[in-house]
Amino acid sequence: RSVLITGGSGFIGRALQYYLRQKGYTVNIVSRKPGHNTITWEHLSKSGLPPGTHAVVNLVGQNILQPGSIWTEQYKKDVYSSRVNRTQDLVKQLLASQDKVKAFVSFSGVGIYEPGSNTTYTEHTDLPSKPADFFANLARDWEAAALDASKDIRTTIVRSGVVLGNGGGMIKSSFWPFFFFAGGPMGSGTQPLPWIHIHDMVRIIRLAIEKENVSGVLNGVAPQIITNADFARAFGSALGRPAILPFPRFALNLIFSPERARIVAEGQKVQPKRLLEEYKFDYKYPTIEGACKEVVREFWPK
Ligand code: NDP
Repeated sequence: RSVLITGGSGFIGRALQYYLRQKGYTVNIVSRKPGHNTITWEHLSKSGLPPGTHAVVNLVGQNILQPGSIWTEQYKKDVYSSRVNRTQDLVKQLLASQDKVKAFVSFSGVGIYEPGSNTTYTEHTDLPSKPADFFANLARDWEAAALDASKDIRTTIVRSGVVLGNGGGMIKSSFWPFFFFAGGPMGSGTQPLPWIHIHDMVRIIRLAIEKENVSGVLNGVAPQIITNADFARAFGSALGRPAILPFPRFALNLIFSPERARIVAEGQKVQPKRLLEEYKFDYKYPTIEGACKEVVREFWPK
């Protein structure tokens, strides 16, 4: 069986390709650049999905916290259109294909929920009538574009927390500062950090591909609610390093601009209620200590 992954060249996409191939799938990706097992977006819009595609996973999106990037209006437009417009293009092809795919899995983020420490969000929490900020609006439009497919195709939206694994995301930017004794909490450190280990994330995607009773929104987070300081302690301890040097909010504001710094300096408490209760999902890494140890173990295999 064959799976097509948009944004398959990225951090989560590479891990997913590896995992699905191990499980016997054939994997193709959609990318801006041509290559092996790759179709370009232009090819997709001209020729449609590769024949025989069983499932599609949508991971496309301009990196929001690209180191060195400046948060200009143009950058925000790219962040938005690389998700919303590309997803619309993809869904158009999904709905136009003769042979409909059996499953469509599309990503979103916990940024759809307003940051703050009071509410614990589940998939059943009503969203406010107006999105709280740019990221909540982005996630809503992104989900709406993907859910258009659900009239004809079994569609699952994964609202992902911060994905922890080697080769990308938060670990890539934290690893060397922590290694060189300069790690610590971001901002106050008391903000919640919705997180998930990458091995669990790829298993959730496989569940959504394979299980016919899975559809709708899933919070893609670990069951343990932690703060940013809890992460710093666990990662420092897994690396054998202290994690006491906080990275102050004003510095985050300077680097990322205040609007974007909010993603790091604030967070949401999110529960994976549907994964736990409806699908009895068995996490390999339910605690941050176990997840951080695995990240470090894979970085330096003994
Ligand atoms: P990456 O940045 O590693 O990869 C995303 C892929 O999207 C890239 O490989 C690239 O593929 C493609 N892409 C990037 N910019 C553009 C653009 N301007 N136009 C079209 N395509 C583009 O992301 P991750 O793997 O970390 O994340 C995948 C998705 O999951 C993203 O949408 C992200 O927002 C979301 N997510 C990730 C989280 C995380 O912690 N990593 C947390 C929550 C959500 P190519 O160069 O081949 O075209």
